[in-house]
Amino acid sequence: MSDQNNDCIFCKIIKKQAKSYTIYEDEDTVAFLNIYPVSKGHTLVVPKNHAKDLVSGTEDDAVALMRTVYKIAPVIIKILNATGFNLGMNHGRDAGQEVDHTHFHIMPRYHGVERSFSELDPAEHEMQEVADELKQALSKI
Ligand code: AMP
Ligand code: ZN
Repeated sequence: MSDQNNDCIFCKIIKKQAKSYTIYEDEDTVAFLNIYPVSKGHTLVVPKNHAKDLVSGTEDDAVALMRTVYKIAPVIIKILNATGFNLGMNHGRDAGQEVDHTHFHIMPRYHGVERSFSELDPAEHEMQEVADELKQALSKI
């Protein structure tokens, strides 16, 4: 049983009490699309246990988080025909952290597409299509 916080939006997503485009889940972690993506397939990877940031959580959760990045990033890149990705973490307010539940950003990048950190505004059906495609591929890993 993981340890969650009732006021945290990512905990609500983990508990399936808030809408999300979840694409991968294992015992310790969940991955879902960022609703304000900076690139197609922008994914957030979170530990199921609530901690406000990486170093407040357990070492086991930090390791589980990186293991999930290692497993899912290559699949995301392949399925979306991306050519690379940025892996990011904003740790603390002054680093730009807005949601106080540890998360990595996987931002797929595409050859010839400007590497922007501005938010795109995809339609809901586009988000759903990306999520369905990734969920299907990630169900096999
Ligand atoms: P950070 O600045 O690293 O804390 O980033 C938090 C990210 O969470 C932002 O990029 C938001 O777009 C994203 N976000 C906030 N609420 C949700 C949500 N309900 N579902 C998916 N992504 C979210
Ligand atoms: Zn949380």
